[in-house]
Amino acid sequence: MRKPIRDSDVVIVGAGAAGMMCAIEAGKRGRSVLLVDHSPKPAEKIRISGGGRCNFTNLYTHSENFLSNNPHFCRSALERYKPFDIIALLEKHGIRYHEKKLGQLFCDDSAQQIIDMLKKECDFAGVAWQFPSLITKIQYLKYDSGSQSKKCKRFLIDTECNTLTAHSLVIATGGLSIPQIGASDFGYRVARQFNIPVTALRPSLVGLTVSPDNFASFQNMPGIAIDAQVSWQHAAFRENILLTHRGLSGPAILQISSYWKPGTPIHIDLLPQLDMHDIFKSQRYCNQQLSNLLANYLPKRFVQVWCDRVLTGLALSHMGNKPVRQYQNTALSQIAEQIRNWEVVPSGTMGYKKAEVTLGGVDTHALSSKTMEVKQLPGLFFIGEVVDVTGQLGGFNFQWAWSSGHAAGQTV
Ligand SMILES: Cc1cc2nc3c(=O)[nH]c(=O)nc-3n(C[C@H](O)[C@H](O)[C@H](O)COP(=O)(O)OP(=O)(O)OC[C@H]3O[C@@H](n4cnc5c(N)ncnc54)[C@H](O)[C@@H]3O)c2cc1C
Repeated sequence: MRKPIRDSDVVIVGAGAAGMMCAIEAGKRGRSVLLVDHSPKPAEKIRISGGGRCNFTNLYTHSENFLSNNPHFCRSALERYKPFDIIALLEKHGIRYHEKKLGQLFCDDSAQQIIDMLKKECDFAGVAWQFPSLITKIQYLKYDSGSQSKKCKRFLIDTECNTLTAHSLVIATGGLSIPQIGASDFGYRVARQFNIPVTALRPSLVGLTVSPDNFASFQNMPGIAIDAQVSWQHAAFRENILLTHRGLSGPAILQISSYWKPGTPIHIDLLPQLDMHDIFKSQRYCNQQLSNLLANYLPKRFVQVWCDRVLTGLALSHMGNKPVRQYQNTALSQIAEQIRNWEVVPSGTMGYKKAEVTLGGVDTHALSSKTMEVKQLPGLFFIGEVVDVTGQLGGFNFQWAWSSGHAAGQTV
Protein backbone atom coordinates (compact mmCIF):
# COMPACT_ATOMS: atom_id res chain seq x y z
CA MET A 1 0.00 0.00 0.00
CA ARG A 2 1.26 3.49 -0.84
CA LYS A 3 2.18 5.59 2.14
CA PRO A 4 0.38 8.90 2.67
CA ILE A 5 2.28 11.95 1.41
CA ARG A 6 2.76 15.05 3.52
CA ASP A 7 4.02 18.19 1.70
CA SER A 8 5.80 21.08 3.44
CA ASP A 9 8.07 23.90 2.36
CA VAL A 10 10.62 22.89 4.96
CA VAL A 11 11.32 19.63 6.79
CA ILE A 12 13.65 19.94 9.77
CA VAL A 13 15.06 16.70 11.16
CA GLY A 14 15.93 17.03 14.86
CA ALA A 15 13.82 19.08 17.26
CA GLY A 16 16.63 20.18 19.56
CA ALA A 17 17.88 23.69 20.17
CA ALA A 18 19.02 24.39 16.59
CA GLY A 19 16.08 22.66 14.90
CA MET A 20 13.44 24.49 16.93
CA MET A 21 15.13 27.87 16.46
CA CYS A 22 15.25 27.29 12.71
CA ALA A 23 11.59 26.20 12.68
CA ILE A 24 10.51 29.33 14.57
CA GLU A 25 12.32 31.67 12.18
CA ALA A 26 11.13 29.88 9.04
CA GLY A 27 7.56 29.68 10.36
CA LYS A 28 7.57 33.42 11.12
CA ARG A 29 8.45 33.99 7.46
CA GLY A 30 5.30 32.17 6.43
CA ARG A 31 6.95 28.91 5.38
CA SER A 32 5.10 25.69 6.15
CA VAL A 33 7.47 23.85 8.46
CA LEU A 34 7.47 20.27 9.71
CA LEU A 35 9.76 19.32 12.60
CA VAL A 36 10.56 15.60 12.72
CA ASP A 37 12.28 13.82 15.62
CA HIS A 38 12.85 10.13 16.21
CA SER A 39 12.61 10.49 19.96
CA PRO A 40 9.37 10.45 21.95
CA LYS A 41 10.98 13.26 24.00
CA PRO A 42 12.78 15.67 21.65
CA ALA A 43 15.26 18.26 22.99
CA GLU A 44 16.33 16.11 25.92
CA LYS A 45 19.78 17.67 25.82
CA ILE A 46 18.33 21.03 26.70
CA ARG A 47 16.53 19.46 29.65
CA ILE A 48 19.66 17.83 31.11
CA SER A 49 22.01 20.68 30.23
CA GLY A 50 23.76 22.86 32.77
CA GLY A 51 22.85 20.50 35.60
CA GLY A 52 19.14 20.95 34.75
CA ARG A 53 19.36 24.75 34.54
CA CYS A 54 20.70 25.09 30.96
CA ASN A 55 23.67 27.38 30.46
CA PHE A 56 21.86 28.83 27.45
CA THR A 57 24.43 31.38 26.30
CA ASN A 58 27.59 33.23 27.20
CA LEU A 59 27.73 37.01 27.33
CA TYR A 60 31.27 37.02 25.95
CA THR A 61 30.63 34.82 22.91
CA HIS A 62 33.30 35.28 20.28
CA SER A 63 34.48 33.18 17.35
CA GLU A 64 37.59 32.36 19.41
CA ASN A 65 35.43 30.31 21.76
CA PHE A 66 34.83 27.74 19.02
CA LEU A 67 36.95 24.98 17.51
CA SER A 68 36.61 24.17 13.82
CA ASN A 69 38.81 23.30 10.86
CA ASN A 70 37.52 26.60 9.47
CA PRO A 71 37.81 28.96 12.44
CA HIS A 72 36.07 32.01 10.88
CA PHE A 73 33.06 30.08 9.62
CA CYS A 74 30.94 30.68 12.74
CA ARG A 75 31.37 34.48 12.72
CA SER A 76 28.60 35.47 10.35
CA ALA A 77 25.85 33.51 12.11
CA LEU A 78 27.07 34.58 15.58
CA GLU A 79 27.05 38.23 14.46
CA ARG A 80 23.44 38.03 13.29
CA TYR A 81 22.00 36.22 16.32
CA LYS A 82 23.80 37.28 19.48
CA PRO A 83 23.54 36.35 23.15
CA PHE A 84 21.28 39.39 23.64
CA ASP A 85 18.80 38.00 21.12
CA ILE A 86 18.27 34.78 23.06
CA ILE A 87 18.21 36.78 26.31
CA ALA A 88 15.44 38.96 24.81
CA LEU A 89 13.46 35.81 23.96
CA LEU A 90 13.76 34.52 27.53
CA GLU A 91 12.70 37.89 28.89
CA LYS A 92 9.68 37.94 26.55
CA HIS A 93 8.62 34.66 28.19
CA GLY A 94 9.35 35.86 31.72
CA ILE A 95 12.11 33.29 32.26
CA ARG A 96 14.47 34.41 35.00
CA TYR A 97 18.18 33.81 34.63
CA HIS A 98 21.48 34.68 36.27
CA GLU A 99 25.17 34.86 35.44
CA LYS A 100 26.98 32.09 37.29
CA LYS A 101 30.53 33.05 36.30
CA LEU A 102 32.57 34.13 33.28
CA GLY A 103 29.52 35.37 31.34
CA GLN A 104 27.71 32.00 31.64
CA LEU A 105 23.93 32.54 31.82
CA PHE A 106 21.73 29.88 33.47
CA CYS A 107 17.98 29.68 34.11
CA ASP A 108 17.10 30.44 37.73
CA ASP A 109 14.59 27.62 37.81
CA SER A 110 14.73 24.86 35.20
CA ALA A 111 15.93 24.07 31.69
CA GLN A 112 12.43 22.81 30.94
CA GLN A 113 11.39 26.48 30.72
CA ILE A 114 13.58 26.87 27.64
CA ILE A 115 11.97 23.84 25.98
CA ASP A 116 8.51 25.18 26.81
CA MET A 117 9.48 28.61 25.44
CA LEU A 118 10.72 27.14 22.15
CA LYS A 119 7.60 24.98 21.80
CA LYS A 120 5.37 28.00 22.39
CA GLU A 121 7.29 30.00 19.79
CA CYS A 122 6.95 27.08 17.36
CA ASP A 123 3.18 27.12 17.97
CA PHE A 124 3.00 30.90 17.34
CA ALA A 125 4.89 30.36 14.09
CA GLY A 126 2.54 27.56 12.98
CA VAL A 127 5.19 24.82 13.02
CA ALA A 128 3.90 21.24 12.65
CA TRP A 129 5.44 18.26 14.47
CA GLN A 130 5.94 14.60 13.73
CA PHE A 131 7.49 12.50 16.51
CA PRO A 132 8.54 9.87 17.32
CA SER A 133 9.18 9.24 13.67
CA LEU A 134 12.00 7.27 12.09
CA ILE A 135 13.35 8.38 8.73
CA THR A 136 14.25 5.45 6.52
CA LYS A 137 15.32 7.08 3.25
CA ILE A 138 16.07 10.50 1.77
CA GLN A 139 16.07 11.23 -1.94
CA TYR A 140 16.62 14.41 -3.88
CA LEU A 141 14.50 14.55 -7.01
CA LYS A 142 14.73 16.83 -10.01
CA TYR A 143 11.72 16.72 -12.29
CA ASP A 144 9.97 18.72 -15.01
CA SER A 145 7.17 20.89 -13.66
CA GLY A 146 5.25 20.54 -16.92
CA SER A 147 4.63 24.25 -17.45
CA GLN A 148 7.45 26.07 -19.30
CA SER A 149 9.45 22.84 -18.88
CA LYS A 150 10.94 24.28 -15.68
CA LYS A 151 13.08 21.92 -13.59
CA CYS A 152 11.70 21.46 -10.06
CA LYS A 153 13.66 20.06 -7.13
CA ARG A 154 12.30 18.46 -4.03
CA PHE A 155 13.42 16.23 -1.19
CA LEU A 156 11.50 13.02 -0.66
CA ILE A 157 11.83 11.78 2.90
CA ASP A 158 10.47 8.36 3.74
CA THR A 159 9.49 7.66 7.31
CA GLU A 160 8.07 4.42 8.68
CA CYS A 161 4.52 5.77 8.33
CA ASN A 162 4.49 8.37 5.55
CA THR A 163 6.47 10.14 2.85
CA LEU A 164 7.40 13.77 3.40
CA THR A 165 8.26 16.17 0.63
CA ALA A 166 9.98 19.55 1.00
CA HIS A 167 11.84 22.24 -0.93
CA SER A 168 14.28 22.62 1.94
CA LEU A 169 15.63 19.90 4.18
CA VAL A 170 17.41 20.95 7.37
CA ILE A 171 19.53 18.46 9.30
CA ALA A 172 19.66 19.39 12.99
CA THR A 173 20.25 16.00 14.59
CA GLY A 174 23.15 17.07 16.83
CA GLY A 175 26.23 15.02 17.72
CA LEU A 176 26.96 11.57 19.11
CA SER A 177 27.16 12.29 22.80
CA ILE A 178 24.73 10.65 25.25
CA PRO A 179 23.23 8.08 22.84
CA GLN A 180 20.90 6.93 25.65
CA ILE A 181 18.80 10.11 25.16
CA GLY A 182 18.45 10.04 21.39
CA ALA A 183 21.81 11.06 19.89
CA SER A 184 22.51 9.39 16.55
CA ASP A 185 24.89 9.53 13.61
CA PHE A 186 22.02 10.39 11.28
CA GLY A 187 23.37 13.82 10.26
CA TYR A 188 26.77 12.46 9.33
CA ARG A 189 25.15 9.67 7.28
CA VAL A 190 23.04 12.18 5.35
CA ALA A 191 26.18 14.25 4.68
CA ARG A 192 27.99 11.19 3.34
CA GLN A 193 24.99 10.21 1.21
CA PHE A 194 25.28 13.56 -0.59
CA ASN A 195 29.11 13.43 -0.77
CA ILE A 196 29.58 16.18 1.77
CA PRO A 197 32.78 15.64 3.76
CA VAL A 198 32.66 15.09 7.51
CA THR A 199 35.74 15.92 9.58
CA ALA A 200 37.15 13.49 12.16
CA LEU A 201 34.75 13.04 15.08
CA ARG A 202 35.62 12.53 18.73
CA PRO A 203 34.08 13.05 22.17
CA SER A 204 34.76 16.48 23.59
CA LEU A 205 34.07 18.42 26.80
CA VAL A 206 34.66 15.09 28.46
CA GLY A 207 36.63 13.66 31.38
CA LEU A 208 40.03 12.10 30.68
CA THR A 209 40.98 8.61 31.81
CA VAL A 210 44.40 7.85 33.26
CA SER A 211 45.87 4.37 33.40
CA PRO A 212 45.69 2.91 36.94
CA ASP A 213 49.43 2.08 36.62
CA ASN A 214 50.11 5.78 36.92
CA PHE A 215 47.15 6.95 38.87
CA ALA A 216 45.70 4.17 41.06
CA SER A 217 46.41 5.94 44.34
CA PHE A 218 44.58 9.10 43.17
CA GLN A 219 41.59 7.07 42.04
CA ASN A 220 40.77 6.18 45.63
CA MET A 221 39.87 9.78 46.41
CA PRO A 222 37.12 10.72 43.94
CA GLY A 223 35.44 14.05 44.47
CA ILE A 224 38.54 16.03 45.43
CA ALA A 225 38.50 19.34 43.55
CA ILE A 226 41.48 21.64 43.02
CA ASP A 227 41.51 25.08 41.44
CA ALA A 228 44.22 24.59 38.81
CA GLN A 229 45.44 25.76 35.45
CA VAL A 230 45.44 22.97 32.87
CA SER A 231 47.24 23.41 29.60
CA TRP A 232 47.97 21.54 26.42
CA GLN A 233 50.32 23.28 24.00
CA HIS A 234 48.93 26.85 23.67
CA ALA A 235 45.50 26.14 25.16
CA ALA A 236 45.14 26.84 28.89
CA PHE A 237 42.14 26.94 31.24
CA ARG A 238 42.01 27.99 34.88
CA GLU A 239 39.12 26.29 36.67
CA ASN A 240 38.58 23.30 38.94
CA ILE A 241 39.94 19.84 38.23
CA LEU A 242 38.22 16.87 39.83
CA LEU A 243 39.73 13.49 40.70
CA THR A 244 37.50 10.60 39.58
CA HIS A 245 37.60 6.81 39.77
CA ARG A 246 38.86 6.67 36.18
CA GLY A 247 41.06 9.76 35.96
CA LEU A 248 40.38 13.48 35.83
CA SER A 249 37.32 15.59 35.21
CA GLY A 250 35.97 19.02 36.20
CA PRO A 251 35.60 22.13 34.05
CA ALA A 252 39.32 22.70 33.34
CA ILE A 253 39.74 19.09 32.17
CA LEU A 254 36.56 19.19 30.05
CA GLN A 255 37.88 22.32 28.37
CA ILE A 256 41.31 20.87 27.63
CA SER A 257 39.76 17.62 26.32
CA SER A 258 38.76 19.51 23.17
CA TYR A 259 42.41 20.28 22.42
CA TRP A 260 44.25 17.25 23.82
CA LYS A 261 45.68 14.71 21.38
CA PRO A 262 46.05 11.04 22.48
CA GLY A 263 49.54 10.01 23.52
CA THR A 264 50.52 13.50 24.68
CA PRO A 265 50.67 14.89 28.23
CA ILE A 266 48.57 17.63 29.75
CA HIS A 267 50.25 20.04 32.16
CA ILE A 268 48.64 21.00 35.44
CA ASP A 269 49.65 23.99 37.53
CA LEU A 270 48.30 22.99 40.93
CA LEU A 271 48.78 26.43 42.48
CA PRO A 272 48.35 28.95 39.67
CA GLN A 273 47.94 31.89 42.04
CA LEU A 274 51.14 31.19 44.02
CA ASP A 275 54.78 30.45 43.35
CA MET A 276 55.89 27.47 45.42
CA HIS A 277 59.55 28.46 44.87
CA ASP A 278 58.86 31.66 46.86
CA ILE A 279 56.98 29.76 49.54
CA PHE A 280 59.83 27.28 50.00
CA LYS A 281 62.30 30.19 50.17
CA SER A 282 60.30 31.89 52.89
CA GLN A 283 59.85 28.58 54.74
CA ARG A 284 63.42 27.36 54.15
CA TYR A 285 64.07 26.47 57.79
CA CYS A 286 60.57 25.38 58.62
CA ASN A 287 60.08 22.34 60.84
CA GLN A 288 56.80 21.38 59.23
CA GLN A 289 56.79 18.19 57.21
CA LEU A 290 56.67 18.75 53.47
CA SER A 291 53.14 17.33 53.09
CA ASN A 292 51.85 19.41 56.01
CA LEU A 293 53.23 22.59 54.48
CA LEU A 294 51.67 21.74 51.11
CA ALA A 295 48.37 20.90 52.83
CA ASN A 296 48.10 24.61 53.69
CA TYR A 297 47.46 25.16 49.99
CA LEU A 298 46.11 21.89 48.58
CA PRO A 299 43.67 19.21 49.87
CA LYS A 300 45.45 17.12 52.50
CA ARG A 301 44.50 13.68 51.17
CA PHE A 302 45.68 14.65 47.71
CA VAL A 303 48.96 16.05 48.99
CA GLN A 304 49.88 12.85 50.83
CA VAL A 305 49.55 10.72 47.70
CA TRP A 306 51.02 13.39 45.43
CA CYS A 307 54.14 13.77 47.63
CA ASP A 308 54.77 10.02 47.61
CA ARG A 309 54.53 9.89 43.85
CA VAL A 310 56.56 12.98 43.17
CA LEU A 311 59.32 12.11 45.59
CA THR A 312 59.56 8.67 43.97
CA GLY A 313 59.58 10.25 40.51
CA LEU A 314 62.37 12.60 41.55
CA ALA A 315 64.35 9.71 43.08
CA LEU A 316 63.86 11.34 46.49
CA SER A 317 61.78 8.57 48.02
CA HIS A 318 64.64 7.83 50.45
CA MET A 319 63.85 11.26 51.95
CA GLY A 320 60.31 10.15 52.87
CA ASN A 321 58.09 12.95 54.03
CA LYS A 322 60.59 14.98 56.07
CA PRO A 323 60.56 18.48 57.61
CA VAL A 324 61.11 21.08 54.91
CA ARG A 325 64.46 22.24 56.33
CA GLN A 326 65.97 18.78 55.69
CA TYR A 327 65.54 19.00 51.92
CA GLN A 328 68.28 20.45 49.77
CA ASN A 329 67.53 23.59 47.75
CA THR A 330 67.66 21.65 44.49
CA ALA A 331 65.11 19.13 45.79
CA LEU A 332 62.72 21.90 46.92
CA SER A 333 63.14 23.58 43.60
CA GLN A 334 62.26 20.33 41.78
CA ILE A 335 59.21 19.82 44.00
CA ALA A 336 58.06 23.41 43.38
CA GLU A 337 58.46 22.82 39.65
CA GLN A 338 56.33 19.67 39.88
CA ILE A 339 53.57 21.71 41.52
CA ARG A 340 53.76 24.30 38.76
CA ASN A 341 53.92 21.72 36.01
CA TRP A 342 52.46 18.35 37.00
CA GLU A 343 52.54 16.28 33.84
CA VAL A 344 49.81 13.68 33.35
CA VAL A 345 49.47 11.48 30.27
CA PRO A 346 45.79 10.57 29.84
CA SER A 347 45.07 7.15 28.39
CA GLY A 348 41.88 8.31 26.67
CA THR A 349 38.55 10.01 27.25
CA MET A 350 35.44 8.85 29.07
CA GLY A 351 33.74 8.52 25.67
CA TYR A 352 30.46 9.62 24.10
CA LYS A 353 28.43 8.29 27.05
CA LYS A 354 29.89 11.07 29.21
CA ALA A 355 30.87 13.73 26.65
CA GLU A 356 28.90 16.98 26.40
CA VAL A 357 29.57 17.37 22.69
CA THR A 358 31.11 15.86 19.56
CA LEU A 359 34.18 17.58 18.20
CA GLY A 360 34.18 17.77 14.40
CA GLY A 361 31.25 17.31 12.05
CA VAL A 362 29.97 18.32 8.65
CA ASP A 363 32.84 20.11 6.94
CA THR A 364 32.05 23.82 6.95
CA HIS A 365 33.92 24.35 3.68
CA ALA A 366 30.92 22.69 2.03
CA LEU A 367 28.44 25.14 3.63
CA SER A 368 27.56 28.80 3.22
CA SER A 369 28.51 30.59 6.43
CA LYS A 370 25.60 32.97 5.91
CA THR A 371 22.81 30.42 5.47
CA MET A 372 24.23 26.99 6.45
CA GLU A 373 23.12 25.74 3.03
CA VAL A 374 25.20 23.14 1.19
CA LYS A 375 26.94 25.03 -1.61
CA GLN A 376 26.73 22.15 -4.07
CA LEU A 377 23.18 21.15 -3.13
CA PRO A 378 20.89 24.16 -2.62
CA GLY A 379 17.95 23.27 -0.40
CA LEU A 380 19.96 21.09 2.00
CA PHE A 381 21.07 22.71 5.27
CA PHE A 382 23.08 21.57 8.32
CA ILE A 383 22.82 23.43 11.63
CA GLY A 384 23.85 23.08 15.27
CA GLU A 385 26.23 20.54 16.69
CA VAL A 386 26.24 18.26 13.63
CA VAL A 387 28.38 20.94 11.94
CA ASP A 388 32.14 21.13 12.55
CA VAL A 389 31.80 24.03 15.00
CA THR A 390 32.35 23.09 18.65
CA GLY A 391 32.09 25.57 21.47
CA GLN A 392 34.14 25.65 24.62
CA LEU A 393 32.38 24.93 27.90
CA GLY A 394 30.20 27.79 29.15
CA GLY A 395 27.06 28.22 27.03
CA PHE A 396 28.80 28.56 23.67
CA ASN A 397 27.34 25.36 22.20
CA PHE A 398 23.78 26.52 22.75
CA GLN A 399 24.67 29.94 21.33
CA TRP A 400 25.94 28.18 18.20
CA ALA A 401 22.69 26.16 18.01
CA TRP A 402 20.58 29.37 18.25
CA SER A 403 22.74 31.34 15.81
CA SER A 404 23.09 28.65 13.15
CA GLY A 405 19.38 27.73 13.47
CA HIS A 406 18.45 31.38 13.08
CA ALA A 407 20.74 31.80 10.04
CA ALA A 408 19.16 28.86 8.20
CA GLY A 409 15.68 29.91 9.28
CA GLN A 410 16.06 33.16 7.32
CA THR A 411 16.63 31.28 4.06
CA VAL A 412 14.90 27.86 4.04
C1 LIG B 1 24.98 16.58 29.74
C2 LIG B 1 25.10 17.74 28.78
C3 LIG B 1 25.07 19.03 29.27
C4 LIG B 1 25.21 20.10 28.39
N1 LIG B 1 25.15 21.37 28.91
C5 LIG B 1 25.30 22.42 28.07
C6 LIG B 1 25.17 23.75 28.56
O1 LIG B 1 24.81 23.97 29.73
N2 LIG B 1 25.40 24.76 27.69
C7 LIG B 1 25.72 24.55 26.36
O2 LIG B 1 25.91 25.50 25.62
N3 LIG B 1 25.77 23.29 25.86
C8 LIG B 1 25.57 22.25 26.68
N4 LIG B 1 25.61 20.98 26.16
C9 LIG B 1 25.77 20.81 24.71
C10 LIG B 1 24.42 21.11 24.03
O3 LIG B 1 23.40 20.36 24.67
C11 LIG B 1 24.44 20.75 22.54
O4 LIG B 1 25.57 21.31 21.92
C12 LIG B 1 23.18 21.26 21.87
O5 LIG B 1 22.05 20.64 22.46
C13 LIG B 1 23.20 20.99 20.38
O6 LIG B 1 21.96 21.36 19.83
P1 LIG B 1 21.44 20.66 18.50
O7 LIG B 1 20.07 21.22 18.29
O8 LIG B 1 22.43 20.77 17.44
O9 LIG B 1 21.34 19.11 18.86
P2 LIG B 1 20.49 18.39 20.00
O10 LIG B 1 20.10 19.31 21.07
O11 LIG B 1 21.28 17.18 20.35
O12 LIG B 1 19.15 17.95 19.26
C14 LIG B 1 19.15 16.95 18.28
C15 LIG B 1 17.76 16.40 18.13
O13 LIG B 1 17.79 15.51 17.02
C16 LIG B 1 17.09 14.34 17.33
N5 LIG B 1 17.63 13.27 16.51
C17 LIG B 1 18.83 12.64 16.60
N6 LIG B 1 18.92 11.69 15.67
C18 LIG B 1 17.77 11.70 14.97
C19 LIG B 1 17.27 10.94 13.87
N7 LIG B 1 17.98 9.94 13.35
N8 LIG B 1 16.03 11.22 13.39
C20 LIG B 1 15.30 12.21 13.95
N9 LIG B 1 15.70 12.95 14.99
C21 LIG B 1 16.94 12.71 15.48
C22 LIG B 1 17.33 14.14 18.83
O14 LIG B 1 16.30 13.34 19.39
C23 LIG B 1 17.29 15.59 19.33
O15 LIG B 1 15.97 15.98 19.72
C24 LIG B 1 25.42 19.88 27.00
C25 LIG B 1 25.42 18.59 26.52
C26 LIG B 1 25.26 17.52 27.38
C27 LIG B 1 25.25 16.13 26.83
